[in-house]
Amino acid sequence: MRLVIFGPQGAGKGTQGALIAEKYGIPSISTGEIFRWAIKGKTALGLKVLEYVDAGRLVPDELTVEVVTNRLTADDCIDGFLLDGFPRNVGQARSLDALLADQNAALDAALVVEVPEDVSLRRILGRRACSDCGRNYHLDAPPQNDWTCDACGGDVVERTDDHEEETVRNRLKLYHEQTEPLKKYYADRDLLREINGEGSPDEVFSRIVTSI
Ligand code: AMP
Repeated sequence: MRLVIFGPQGAGKGTQGALIAEKYGIPSISTGEIFRWAIKGKTALGLKVLEYVDAGRLVPDELTVEVVTNRLTADDCIDGFLLDGFPRNVGQARSLDALLADQNAALDAALVVEVPEDVSLRRILGRRACSDCGRNYHLDAPPQNDWTCDACGGDVVERTDDHEEETVRNRLKLYHEQTEPLKKYYADRDLLREINGEGSPDEVFSRIVTSI
């Protein structure tokens, strides 16, 4: 099963990605997460992408495609994968198609999870995540003990790029300009599955499973 998932920030892609990965036994690969880990670890990649990620701008395609190419050739991707946050524009989608064609493979579906802008903003501005394992929380759905992750005990904090409303609005604007055209790209290839992202994580997940 080879899937991509996209949608505006706060649509719940990270939460759904984890559920999909578990159900179908495939790795969920988030380029945003790869970049955040690299920044946290102060690696060469982290230093290159820091200014883009903090400002809510897109990391250049060449670098992003290189990161994804390396990740998709790992052994755990042989039977499939879910890509979350990649492709982010039509150029990246073309690169992904070319990369898969080289491996005699192709995507099975492209899921777009959609929520209205006010829901998106509310979810992002209240979003918190574990700084160790990446698990997502929200001000309205915190961990059980004092901002300590229920899964691993790590500190649950706000993402730096979620802090400023202006940065968040910038990311949403970029989504509409650059990422939304992927709907047509994948609809033309008969791969698009449109998912209503409103409601509880379980409700959204069952819509996804039905659509797949
Ligand atoms: P996300 O966790 O998907 O919201 O991504 C966080 C940040 O990482 C984005 O605002 C970008 O700066 C960067 N990023 C993630 N995925 C991509 C991508 N496919 N292309 C370019 N930049 C990306």
